[in-house]
Amino acid sequence: MSDLRKNLLAETKRIVIKLGSRVLVEAGTRGVNTAFINRLAESVAVLQEAGKEIAIVTSGAIGIGMGRMGYSKKPDNIADKQVCAAVGQIDLMHAYRNAFEKQKIAVGQILLSADDFRDRNRYKNLQNILISMLKHKTIPVINENDSVVVSEIKVGDNDKLSSDVALFWNADLLLLFTDEDGLFDSNPKTNASARLLNLVPEVNSEILNLAKPGEAGSAVSTGGMYSKLEAVRAVTRSGCNAFLANGTKVLPHEVLFENALGTLFLGNAKKLASRKKWLSFVSTPKGSITIDDGGVNAIRKKHASILPVGVVSVSGNFSMKDLIDVKDVNGNKIARGISKYDSRELKKVMRMKNLDEAIHKNDLVVF
Ligand code: GLU
Repeated sequence: MSDLRKNLLAETKRIVIKLGSRVLVEAGTRGVNTAFINRLAESVAVLQEAGKEIAIVTSGAIGIGMGRMGYSKKPDNIADKQVCAAVGQIDLMHAYRNAFEKQKIAVGQILLSADDFRDRNRYKNLQNILISMLKHKTIPVINENDSVVVSEIKVGDNDKLSSDVALFWNADLLLLFTDEDGLFDSNPKTNASARLLNLVPEVNSEILNLAKPGEAGSAVSTGGMYSKLEAVRAVTRSGCNAFLANGTKVLPHEVLFENALGTLFLGNAKKLASRKKWLSFVSTPKGSITIDDGGVNAIRKKHASILPVGVVSVSGNFSMKDLIDVKDVNGNKIARGISKYDSRELKKVMRMKNLDEAIHKNDLVVF
């Protein structure tokens, strides 16, 4: 293990472990991979013994529910998916409870939706719940509340959910387990000479380009490599390290204490303050505005507010005080902030001079 990696990981105290459906759903029986969850519990026990604080973000509910309900592929209909999630979540939690009980570790289920992150008070409540669970040495096992959420209040996929959790919990390390050995410089499934990247100092556009946006996971999972890289980018920009490994080969304690195969992504040395972190990465925006080049310049160079005169278009239905994305005219997301107008009003006043700002500079995070 390189010295850099050894030192970084040794300092790690708070860890979010994200497990994908591909490691949790057994290919043959399509039930819970209990052998894996048992190994995971043993590994987490080693980490707890070493004084580490752990939260788990688990996928697998829909995949396992599909097995029970006899679906061979993910149903298209949201209601059918919700039923699979409701059914599968029980099996999943049952397996966690049994496996962790053998290690004398208590686990508790937390089911979340995007609204839990959108509202700053609910967000703070969540932080408190996790802190209380820590005090009781109980491991939170977190999933999206798929059986009741509809698209507007969905976090999306569990890669995003795990980065949200890592951010609100101020984790030092996000461990993402999938069925690939890490990030490669080209697709290992189609290129036999693809090289594994051991260390990625920054998730820039070159790194993001190694995966395809919208690339689906598998029959049972949701996110592909792109959504993992987006999750990694969010946490690393806020100062948390991330590690991507193959859950079928590597266990969490091996990442910390042994020379486990995988990709280490370095967290930015500068940690973001809690409010900026929430604004930038955690909450899901309700809409977006596009601003002209003058506006882009003003927020980038002068740290100015965004004025209605610089707004060229408004999309989505948002209310006053909702979080929205800010894009340049080429469609690149360049900032995020809290809107002082609702979307209907802003459409009316965009391009007009001498009005109150659309987003105040204190409520704006520029990427
Ligand atoms: N929450 C989903 C489930 O439990 C998984 C979503 C994902 O894998 O990203 O099945």
